[in-house]
Amino acid sequence: MNSEKLRTLIKPYLSEELLRQTRIHALDNYFPPHPKRKVFIKRDDELSSSIIGSKLRKYSSLLPYLEKENFDEVLIIGGAHSNNVLSLSQVLKEKRLFFKLMLLEHHNPTLQGNLLWTRMLVNEKNLIWVKRKDWAEVEEKAQEYVEEEKRKGRRVCLISEGAKHQASLPGVLTLPQEIVSDQEKKEREFQHYFIDSGTGLSAIGLILGLQFLEISAHIYISLIAGREKEFESQLENQRRNFSQLFGQDLPSFCPSYSFHRPALATSFGSVNTKVLQETLVVARETGILMDPVYSIKHLCTAKEIIVQKELEGNILFVYSGGSLALAGFQEKLAYFFRSP
Ligand SMILES: *Cc1c(COP(=O)(O)O)cnc(C)c1O
Repeated sequence: MNSEKLRTLIKPYLSEELLRQTRIHALDNYFPPHPKRKVFIKRDDELSSSIIGSKLRKYSSLLPYLEKENFDEVLIIGGAHSNNVLSLSQVLKEKRLFFKLMLLEHHNPTLQGNLLWTRMLVNEKNLIWVKRKDWAEVEEKAQEYVEEEKRKGRRVCLISEGAKHQASLPGVLTLPQEIVSDQEKKEREFQHYFIDSGTGLSAIGLILGLQFLEISAHIYISLIAGREKEFESQLENQRRNFSQLFGQDLPSFCPSYSFHRPALATSFGSVNTKVLQETLVVARETGILMDPVYSIKHLCTAKEIIVQKELEGNILFVYSGGSLALAGFQEKLAYFFRSP
């Protein structure tokens, strides 16, 4: 079996207690009907009620690395409302690993959504706020902190935005491993994949996994944050990381992929009325309370492409988010239900 080959490769790096297989089910009702097309959704939101699924996949190999290296401290960089900051804080607390957060300062005085949940988890004294004007140099600032601690004899592991780390690679490869394993069981192949991208690592995991197994398909990448160039250089980085880590080169075959700007509210983090309206439509049509920051934009982008290109065959939409991000938008969503 193909998926077993990939499983054998990544298994030594994984903490499998963190993950379980997520469902793939039909999602046809949201799309215009087409006799030669079936759309499915991978429910990575179901991996946890409060940790983003695709993040948990990264931690499934990042965490064993952190535990093995026995760092004195972990320093996590991110925005005040970052999904990664909130998600990783939960896992590190559970595992009793000491960490600090280096966060981009925010101006909203009301504590709500992800920042509120993060503050529930992390004591004020373990927060380092960085001014917006200094944010471009946050990596250097964090590196300085690491060096300073080193002089005191303390080892600090730096985790960049979105848990983009070499040690997260085996974890993101669990996604293609699971999907291919599901295909083998159900004898159903996907010709088209839709995945969203922030740092790009999750999408890169999907590309590299299919490349390793020499499975041909097309991957449509919704660029929710970041740019094509960064994605491509990160892909090359992770190819090298793959060869070093697993001691074998990837086959020259590579699945095809393309980049797509979000169909709604293009700039990262922006959620406008259209996005929120679509959040309601998706809830009514599919029964899924989907997060607007990433996944609604991703789903709208997928719909636009599927309709425009008149895609046929089996399509898999990867849903990596969760409902928790909706908490930041309650008032705005309630506005749609006001009496006339
Ligand atoms: C972080 C995140 C992503 C992006 O994942 P990358 O691996 O950084 O590309 C996508 N969707 C959601 C919901 C996320 O939280």
